[in-house]
Amino acid sequence: MKRIKGATLSAVFSLFLTGVLCFFPGRSFQTMHHPEPFFPSAGLTAKHWLSDYFPPLKNTHGDTEVYIFRGTEKGGNLLVLGGTHPNEPAGMIASVLLVENIRAKRGNVLVVPRANASGFTHSDPQEGNPQRFVIPTPDGPRPFRLGSRLTNPVDQWPDPAVYLNPAGQKLSGNEVRNLNRCYPGRADGFLTERIAFGIMELIRKERVDIGIDLHESAPEYPVINAIVFHENSSELAALALLSLQAEGFDIRLEASPANLRGLSHREWGDHAGIKAILLETPNASHGRLKGKPSSSLIVDGKDKFYTKAARLGWLFVPYGEEGIPLALRVARHLAAIEAVLGGLAELEPDKAVEIEDLPAAAEVQKRGVGAFLHAPQKGG
Ligand SMILES: [Zn+2]
Repeated sequence: MKRIKGATLSAVFSLFLTGVLCFFPGRSFQTMHHPEPFFPSAGLTAKHWLSDYFPPLKNTHGDTEVYIFRGTEKGGNLLVLGGTHPNEPAGMIASVLLVENIRAKRGNVLVVPRANASGFTHSDPQEGNPQRFVIPTPDGPRPFRLGSRLTNPVDQWPDPAVYLNPAGQKLSGNEVRNLNRCYPGRADGFLTERIAFGIMELIRKERVDIGIDLHESAPEYPVINAIVFHENSSELAALALLSLQAEGFDIRLEASPANLRGLSHREWGDHAGIKAILLETPNASHGRLKGKPSSSLIVDGKDKFYTKAARLGWLFVPYGEEGIPLALRVARHLAAIEAVLGGLAELEPDKAVEIEDLPAAAEVQKRGVGAFLHAPQKGG
């Protein structure tokens, strides 16, 4: 009798202990489903959802915010996507800096900071990545989610063994959850294909003239510090390159390969006829040669293994001990957006887009990204 009582007590205790041990990580895990708020500038004229353009996305984890800045003067329509790949922080943060600072003077600017919202709700398995990275601001630290390159399998599962994408390209199965392989999307397809279709609908319904998709790549990957352009944007990309080089940014041009299908810089141009540009900056945190992943690796970008790899000539970008901080990567994206718009104004003046209060690249590098983020307590 005594033994049974003892066993019951230890069973109850074990259950209690398991409950406690599951509660805290469970609660932390759950927070990945709550997107951080952004604090738009006074220049914001409307906030829509992707489901306003493609209603089947409503109440799915593929729905995402579309921030709209309409100018007072007639011009072109610019779409900027961040977070196509949620493990490439400079793309998302550059688009947040747009949302929190700009005003459109001429034409309209549409910004989608979390293009694959589902990818922000989980982390890449077995990478040991931090759930968040933290940007210091004058009013205190501001955290942002570090997500996964792919849609959350909770939202889209299982993957096929081989994925035949809507553009007819055969890819390995898990690419079915890679937004930048799913264009031009399928209205009745997998969730990621429906997100891609929603973005195409946004492009069509808002009569977008030019789309810029913000990415990062690992320093050992050849397409880096690059402007990838659809052939309909080659002159525009060349003009942007010249002005970026004049500003001291080392950057290269990569033509979108005609036989690599399903990517934004290919299908936006082919299917919607818009000018399509994709930008890449170097991000050590999703490279294979990095040391321990951490928030500071993302924000400060210092990594002794990448510095060593650069010395050995293994990388496609210089990587000194000072690292490649988020501020520099975001500054590159903002400078490139400005350079592309400068080229557009020159080539097609009636489609020009003029942005006021775009954080200057030199200022972002000098003062840090945090200087251009609103304090949470002051936000709306
Ligand atoms: Zn990417």
